[in-house]
Amino acid sequence: MTNDIDRGDLVIRGGTVVDATGSRRADVVIQGGVVVAVGDGVDGPRSARVLDAGGCVVAPGLVDLHVHLRQPGREEAETVETGARAAALGGYTAIVAMPNTEPAIDCASAVREVLELGEGSVCDVRVAGAITKGRQGLELAAMAEMADLGVRLFTDDGTGVQDGRLMRRALEYASALGVTLAQHCEDACLAAGGHMHEGEWSSRLGLAGVPAEAEELMVMRDIVLARLTAPMGSRMHFLHLSTEGSVAAVRAAKASGLVVTAEAAPHHFTLTDASVAGYDSVFKVNPPLRTAADVAAVKAGLADGTLDAIATDHAPHAPEDKERPFDHAPPGMLGLETALGLSLSELDLPIERVLALMSWRPARIAGLDATHGGPVAEGRPANLCVIDPAATWVVEPDRLASRSRNTPYAGRRLTGRVRHTVLFGEPVVVDGEAQR
Ligand SMILES: [Zn+2]
Repeated sequence: MTNDIDRGDLVIRGGTVVDATGSRRADVVIQGGVVVAVGDGVDGPRSARVLDAGGCVVAPGLVDLHVHLRQPGREEAETVETGARAAALGGYTAIVAMPNTEPAIDCASAVREVLELGEGSVCDVRVAGAITKGRQGLELAAMAEMADLGVRLFTDDGTGVQDGRLMRRALEYASALGVTLAQHCEDACLAAGGHMHEGEWSSRLGLAGVPAEAEELMVMRDIVLARLTAPMGSRMHFLHLSTEGSVAAVRAAKASGLVVTAEAAPHHFTLTDASVAGYDSVFKVNPPLRTAADVAAVKAGLADGTLDAIATDHAPHAPEDKERPFDHAPPGMLGLETALGLSLSELDLPIERVLALMSWRPARIAGLDATHGGPVAEGRPANLCVIDPAATWVVEPDRLASRSRNTPYAGRRLTGRVRHTVLFGEPVVVDGEAQR
């Protein structure tokens, strides 16, 4: 966790507390990193620092199930420190770092390295481990030794586990360990060579496409494998679902009683493949931007609970990589500093529903609900964010804390901004400024 920097007493005054239990006008008093009082007019010691929350929502900190921090191996794009700062500015108190680093996080020593880099940063950095050695999809990684270090999510993200037999074994093994497998659903053969969504725009632009079915086939296969292994207690999570068919498959699986979870990324409910028209590789992402019908389906899935969480898939890339021609540029977009504003601006959902998708539901999926996403209540760790839902702002890439600049939202005006973020009682973001 974090070091003992500035753990003085704190009062968050004048806000409306919103958490899984509902919404009420309340001040929040924090001592020693823990919430000690919540109520209208409660007061801390005279020496306590006061954070103004007038007109704001005080909520459990956001939790991101899906970030790429690029360390080790790609520090020119992001480091654990810069990624954590971007997260704190975005309202996140916990993030899960994906294991597709160089080398991959596929053993205890690699997990330990990233956890140590995260210690003392302005966000609680957790780690997902690889399902297979080196993310090669050939043999299972040392999942037990990583689980011993607290790893709760395992994924080969960047690619899906192609071999169905190996995926079945991974689900069985994960069940025994009590951990969750998170799949990047993509049939590598069907997707091979594609750079954008296969459809009207890909043919118009003359770019090779990735059909929606490349994602949907693996979603469907893994639903079948999740059902096969459900009696053992397997837990399956679907990363960044992007197509109407994927959402429909998960909806049907849940309706049949199967317990699976799924996430969507903001770019899949705010942008379509038409954005690629100018061949700007800032719009290249995997899974690719889809059609307006897919965007509508992702929104509907978030609204009806088919999709459990919003995760950023924050994927920084250095300019020299990202500015290559579309068919040579790496896929990925920044997400941490814009996700909340995009969700509040573009989803037709009340703020408490957006917070459920961004805080307490992902906290539960990540196994972090003891420390993050919980109700703002006496005795709970003080991991909080204070959001001004009415504040508008314009995304300016040069002002982002991430080391990279590859946001597709430059110039976009968003409604809803993070005012303060408190991590284990420490105000790490105050009035929209990182404190360290
Ligand atoms: Zn992925």
